[in-house]
Amino acid sequence: MTLDPHLDALAAALSGTVAATPALDTLLQVLETMPVMVALLDTQRRHVYANRSYREYMGRDLPTLVGHTLAGPMGEEQFRATQAMAERALKGEVVQSEGWMPFNGGGQQRYVVRLHGPHRGPDGEIAGYFVLMQDMTERRQMQDDLFRLAYYDPVTGLANRLLLLKHMGDYQAVGEPFTLVIIDIDRFVEIRTSLGQGFANELLIDLAHRLGRDGGPVDLLARVSDHAFAMLVAGDCDAPAIEQRIAAATGIVRSARSSSGAAVFLSASIGVATWNAAHERPEDVLRDAEIATGRAREGGGARHAWFDPTMHAHVVEQVRIEHDLRHALERNENLWVAYQPIVEMVTGGLAGFEALVRWNHPERGNIPPGVFIPIAESTGLVVTLGKWVLREACLQLADWQDKRIPGSAPLFMSVNLSTRQLADPDFVNQVRDVLRETGVEPSWIKLELTESAVMEKAEQSIRLLEGLRALGIKLSIDDFGTGYSSLSYLHKLPIDSLKVDRSFVSAMHQSEENRAIVRIIVDLARLLGFDVIAEGIETTADANLLRALACDYGQGYHFARPMPPADAEALVVNEPPWREAM
Ligand code: C2E
Ligand code: CA
Ligand code: CA
Repeated sequence: MTLDPHLDALAAALSGTVAATPALDTLLQVLETMPVMVALLDTQRRHVYANRSYREYMGRDLPTLVGHTLAGPMGEEQFRATQAMAERALKGEVVQSEGWMPFNGGGQQRYVVRLHGPHRGPDGEIAGYFVLMQDMTERRQMQDDLFRLAYYDPVTGLANRLLLLKHMGDYQAVGEPFTLVIIDIDRFVEIRTSLGQGFANELLIDLAHRLGRDGGPVDLLARVSDHAFAMLVAGDCDAPAIEQRIAAATGIVRSARSSSGAAVFLSASIGVATWNAAHERPEDVLRDAEIATGRAREGGGARHAWFDPTMHAHVVEQVRIEHDLRHALERNENLWVAYQPIVEMVTGGLAGFEALVRWNHPERGNIPPGVFIPIAESTGLVVTLGKWVLREACLQLADWQDKRIPGSAPLFMSVNLSTRQLADPDFVNQVRDVLRETGVEPSWIKLELTESAVMEKAEQSIRLLEGLRALGIKLSIDDFGTGYSSLSYLHKLPIDSLKVDRSFVSAMHQSEENRAIVRIIVDLARLLGFDVIAEGIETTADANLLRALACDYGQGYHFARPMPPADAEALVVNEPPWREAM
């Protein structure tokens, strides 16, 4: 070994082949105990000394290291990779670096933070350099995990909303135009409820995979919400090309499969927004794309929409309606309840009413519930509104029962419930309080819920419905036949009636097939012990058909429209006019 004489002496002292001074011996003990890897190398990059941590990492003992370079234990490639650092250290610099390095000469790589610094001999000249290294693999992996958690969706492995925003922000910063396409799966919540979370995740994974593979080249594919994906396409917006992507994505969604190969018919509401000068932040582009998606959804789903500024105006309008409705509720102004008679089909007698809320806006006149209820639902205001309607309807019913001819059967009152009310854990108590306050018998009240409302939070809903049932309240499934009903659920639900959706009733006269659908619903209800209400009866023919199918109750313009309380009261105390026509 031909080291320089100073290093020769040092090597001998450090390797313990000659007796060291007491000071050096102490230092040596410290070095050998340190978890940090320490090595001293000469100008030719040959080892003079290496401490225990270093030797263990390299898988070599001191005799096989001293006098040799790292080309052996680490391989030529890694040896060359650290060449620049060694050279800088030999010029007197202290250089810090980090990276993956082979461990123990094998295939395993570990993440190491390194410091290369000069070693000066007694004459002040650079005689070699030190290397200090620390194994940071665990910390690095933790960082990677945190990064993945923060920026990627654990189910599909796609980028998440945050990473998408980051990418859009990067494009904005350099002035690169881009277009954002959101693909929101229709009715996903119902699918998940009826088919299970595992199945729903399999569908999402399949969609993510195929959108990435066959959806055309995109700059980023992300999962932006529970059931929505986003494609980020950089460059000036090429509308025909984007339309092609949308067509491809639509095809992919339509042929979704679970990993077990089970297919389910899916569609998507797709919204597109292109970055423009009006967008200050990446969030604004995402908002616009989501507004367009919402528009496609409101149009019935299975379609796409390009954002245009009037859509924004529409959203602003909705916010106004929400604000005015809140105001109306707080002051108890301009809101009233209309009552539509429900008729016993066999006798034609009045059986009850459905309470339907009405809003007479001071500037805009009558706003139909089909407009303001969805808005109230999306903001949660429907909870307060629903409570108000229930109380009004109960007060009204209590008054009418008193006015009935003694001995006549009690009337029932149907009141619509929204999903949001079902989510309120205090709901059962509130209903109990209203009943107590108004003196209404629980069995006179029938709450109507849509299938999707129940399916969305099935387990939770069932518990709540049972709570209501325990009070003695009747429950009915509204718009039956339009949702994603699963028969396996239907018989578990603590309900009393099915309300056949009016689309089936109005289609009945068209074909035998349509009549068969209604017959099946009536038979199904019988089988499960529910009674059946048909809504949307507009003609005598409809009424006769339903009577022939042994439908229990009917409701519709043929009998009466929803009407103000005073008009409804006339029906309570007198013989209803439709009876004469029977
Ligand atoms: P719904 O519960 O299905 O109510 C029946 C709707 O059908 C009512 O519309 C009623 O006026 C209408 N209708 C009744 N008979 C006929 C008929 O023969 N032909 C036709 N074409 N329509 C008929 P309305 O009052 O506009 O209510 C629309 C929806 O708004 C209701 O649908 C219900 O989902 C919701 N809604 C109304 N009031 C309330 C409420 O107090 N709370 C909640 N959560 N929703 C309500
Ligand atoms: Ca209803
Ligand atoms: Ca209905």
